[in-house]
Amino acid sequence: MISRRNLIKNFSAVPLLGGLAGTTNLLPFLDAAAAPAKDYFRDLGIRTFINAAGTYTSMTGSLMLPEVLSAIQYASKEYVILDDLQDKVGQRIASLAKCEYAVVTSGAASAITLGLTGVLTGMDEKKAELVPHLAGTGMKTEVVMQKAHDIPYAHALKNTGVKVILVETKAELEKAINDQTAMLFFVNANNFDGQVQVEEFLQVAKAHRLPAMIDCAADVPPVENLWKYTAMGYDMVCFSGGKGIRGPQSAGLLLGKEKYIKAARLSMPPRGNTVGRGMKVNKEEILGMLVALELYLQKDHAKEWKQWEAQVALIGNAAASVPGVHTATKVPPIANHIPTLHVSWDPAKLPLSAAALQEKLRKGTPSIEVAGSPEGKPHAISITTWMMVPGQEKIVAARLKEALSNV
Ligand SMILES: *Cc1c(COP(=O)(O)O)cnc(C)c1O
Repeated sequence: MISRRNLIKNFSAVPLLGGLAGTTNLLPFLDAAAAPAKDYFRDLGIRTFINAAGTYTSMTGSLMLPEVLSAIQYASKEYVILDDLQDKVGQRIASLAKCEYAVVTSGAASAITLGLTGVLTGMDEKKAELVPHLAGTGMKTEVVMQKAHDIPYAHALKNTGVKVILVETKAELEKAINDQTAMLFFVNANNFDGQVQVEEFLQVAKAHRLPAMIDCAADVPPVENLWKYTAMGYDMVCFSGGKGIRGPQSAGLLLGKEKYIKAARLSMPPRGNTVGRGMKVNKEEILGMLVALELYLQKDHAKEWKQWEAQVALIGNAAASVPGVHTATKVPPIANHIPTLHVSWDPAKLPLSAAALQEKLRKGTPSIEVAGSPEGKPHAISITTWMMVPGQEKIVAARLKEALSNV
């Protein structure tokens, strides 16, 4: 990013503008000059919006910080050997995330596929070429997980060709384990939905000498979660790069045991004849991911939390000032663990569906995206502010109040 100071410096060198650079009324002009030369999304007819919803792939995730973009630009101007970069960045990430080994993947979902592939193949490149056709190869063929954890992303396990065995009780879990079991898989966000919780699940894996993987895709904040589960003993931990960490949306982290992650690398680019070839991350995302993680670790998390609370309170107070509207701030215990504003209304007083309110906010200027009710209520929406640009909360507060007032 071009800083204002650098821009002034650069403009000072231009004779025509040199004399103006010291005057304050040039600043709006400089801001305009700092904007991209071309409004690509507008030219394409693509709607942009204030993201008051959260980290959704459909909404392109999160916004990267200027330092991350500058690292990406830096990386875009040099060639390196991809494996060297993954080695060195992996070492740095492992030290930051306090684990043995790490690799940048193309998202948490690919971390799941690749980590499991590493378990299946070990350091055998021939086996890596056979995945996902496991039959007759000697590779194991099953992964066991709880039914309550069977989220759509569990498909990432099936990409390796394994059969996913779903269980409910601890006894079923123990019974499902056999000589074809490659790994046990846990979804942290669903910890309280299943009968076997995170530590007990790990104990079962340990008792059976099986590797355990945990999906922590959306699980920072709190920042300590970056090392909590490897410290607990999980062999592999998968994070999204472009959610709370605000790295590239097409990046993720596979953290944990060297033995498995090194093996996972055999199925990653530059190698072509593998299941992971379509999960390429290049130097820009790899370096961007590292820088995003460094920034995330350095930030004042308590201060940021207070900012979110203040933003949510501002929007909540505006909404609650409309008769018939109720608000509450809740924090999900795991995953998207951030102040979340729940806005609900009495349909007798405000005959408006959640979908109609969402459409109203979407159609206005600027366009605003809010999430539906996490509890699936028809007359409620939810809002988070962590993916907004600070200041946008004022626009959201005013527009939400207006939309609820004019029903
Ligand atoms: C977002 C998410 C994923 C997928 O993460 P990507 O980084 O988009 O691949 C997997 N599991 C859970 C629980 C998630 O929330």
